[in-house]
Amino acid sequence: MKILAVNAGSSSLKFTLIELPSKEVIASGLFEKIGLAGSYYTIKYNGEKYVREVELTDHGVAVKHLMDELISLHIISSLEEIDGVGHRILHGGDEFVDSLVLTEEVIEGISKYNELGPLHNPANLMGAKAFMKALPNVVQVGVFDTAFHATMKESEFLYPVPYEWYEKYGIRKYGFHGTSHRFVNLDISEHLGRNDLKVISCHIGNGASLAAIDSGKVVDTTMGFTPLAGVMMGTRSGDIDPSIIPFIMKKEGKTADEIINDLNKKSGLLGVSGISSDSRDIEAAIEANNEKAILAQDIYAQKIANYIAMYNNLLGGADVILFTAGIGERSPMTRRQVIEKIKSLGVTLDEEKNQIRAEFALISGEDSKIPVYIVPTNEELMIALDTMEFVSKD
Ligand code: AMP
Repeated sequence: MKILAVNAGSSSLKFTLIELPSKEVIASGLFEKIGLAGSYYTIKYNGEKYVREVELTDHGVAVKHLMDELISLHIISSLEEIDGVGHRILHGGDEFVDSLVLTEEVIEGISKYNELGPLHNPANLMGAKAFMKALPNVVQVGVFDTAFHATMKESEFLYPVPYEWYEKYGIRKYGFHGTSHRFVNLDISEHLGRNDLKVISCHIGNGASLAAIDSGKVVDTTMGFTPLAGVMMGTRSGDIDPSIIPFIMKKEGKTADEIINDLNKKSGLLGVSGISSDSRDIEAAIEANNEKAILAQDIYAQKIANYIAMYNNLLGGADVILFTAGIGERSPMTRRQVIEKIKSLGVTLDEEKNQIRAEFALISGEDSKIPVYIVPTNEELMIALDTMEFVSKD
């Protein structure tokens, strides 16, 4: 069976065509600058990369090009070979807590939560609508970033603010990266042959979040009402004292939206180092003894370590700590610094194994009280697997 896993952004559309159950990636690609000048797309298939510069006025046009390319590049011989399309959707509020088949009515229902994810949700839904139009007889499934966190209890997801904010406006922790945390939790559980694991999952990419998971259920996660909360990230601040916002508004004559933009796009590794949000650039600057880069990396690792210690307590002792996503999978330096900062938990690293990148691996020392793993994430595969469930039910 062939499933398309899709992630539509406001001006982009990413796709992966996956064969199931073999999990083989048949083709993948990215449409960029949709609705903007200089739009183009790339498709990877059979070891070749095809780049086309074309006018992509909207997502519908991009999907039309994709369908044509799938046929003309002989990736498939007919559109009927596509058995299902899975769509990444950022926010399902506290209503959409499982993947489900998308219909016009369901999309209408999800769009109620657009104000909770104004940058992503409308775009995710626009992408879904474009595929529903292009492939009206193919099952389309929505997979939510928030869904895996729906098992959090009120005592974990509520903020200590007036309760009526929650009742009136849905102010609570939702959590994000749920599809990734779910995938790596399944993978480690499968590898270890257990379904009762207490896992601290560290998804450390450009965006970053941790999740405390007990027997497959999220107990707590670091992102909050929006993805701005929790640990420090590439360009996001993570947790800060909210009083800073009106203070800087007055000092710099900025609006609240402008400060939130600074906290989302100009903070984190980029903000502290003044160099880059990309951890490869930070590591290169550290090599060159750049003090701001050393400081940025130190704060970065400390914030992750603090949450690991907190989640170890929350879980009553973790069975596994795992690292995933771009930095978690590929930065031995970050992993070393984080583990160094939780040595009070008796966690140690095998420095040779810690050099492994982007492969499933046990990297802790033999004497480590908690085993530490690298578990590569695969959100596209998780989306495709969820979609397959609904195709099989057809
Ligand atoms: P993601 O958001 O999961 O795609 O992760 C992106 C982040 O992974 C960026 O900050 C990259 O710098 C980081 N990254 C990718 N490869 C490496 C590497 N070899 N070493 C350190 N960081 C890396």
